[in-house]
Amino acid sequence: MEIFEDMQVDFSLSEVRKKIRLEDPDRLQEIMGNRMQNLIDKVLPGILPRAVYRAGFLDSKEDAGVVVDGIGFQSTFLRKTLEDVGRVFPFVITIGTQLEEEITQADDLIDRFLLEKIGDLALDQARLQLQDYLKKRYGFNRLSSMCPGGYGDWPVQERKKIFSVIGDVQQNLGVRLHENFRLDPQKSISGLYFPTEVSILSCQLCPRQACLYRKAAYNGKKTKEHQDLVRNPIQTLIKETKQNKKFREVELLLLWA
Ligand code: SF4
Repeated sequence: MEIFEDMQVDFSLSEVRKKIRLEDPDRLQEIMGNRMQNLIDKVLPGILPRAVYRAGFLDSKEDAGVVVDGIGFQSTFLRKTLEDVGRVFPFVITIGTQLEEEITQADDLIDRFLLEKIGDLALDQARLQLQDYLKKRYGFNRLSSMCPGGYGDWPVQERKKIFSVIGDVQQNLGVRLHENFRLDPQKSISGLYFPTEVSILSCQLCPRQACLYRKAAYNGKKTKEHQDLVRNPIQTLIKETKQNKKFREVELLLLWA
């Protein structure tokens, strides 16, 4: 299990306006005054997103599902979507409990509604940040995600398998899966990331043996260098510069940052 905590949420009033489809600032001011901005200022510092995931593999594909690291997922839609995929990343993300406490304590219905929307936006930002990190770390150009209960015939009950394949999610992330498959904290999400485009780099960084879709040989040294680069870009930059070599990579890193 990998834990990813290097996430921050930050959004403006205009993003919340879009979320609630009230994009006219004058109309917003008329209806709510500064209420929305005040709520954003109040709750943003307490939103601390975290995620756990597993860098997994598809063991096999059955008629009506797929097997990921020994656990069978049942969905023909999932099976079809993962037709040419070898590597998958089961994940759970949460924005924590603080916002939910604010929602529970809010007496005003409009405040509750706005806080819910702020939570949805925060969770969405966290999801995109984890996706971006996985792309960089594992060398994929494009990743997509699917969530049990959200797409086609993949039932919400399969959240249990996502949790099983990752490990002790409750202990490491504080997210509990209830018997009715509800996630607690509620502003959490579980699913699978998978590549929609496999690059040569992603295969060089992938240790899977005997993959039908492999585009390049596994390169352990490159994997180590790449992971150092993603985990600690500044230290890597200094080291590379001191060694006075690989200027192109340093240049790329600066562009990327
Ligand atoms: S070798 Fe390449 S195609 Fe195969 S699972 Fe790894 S990243 Fe995917």
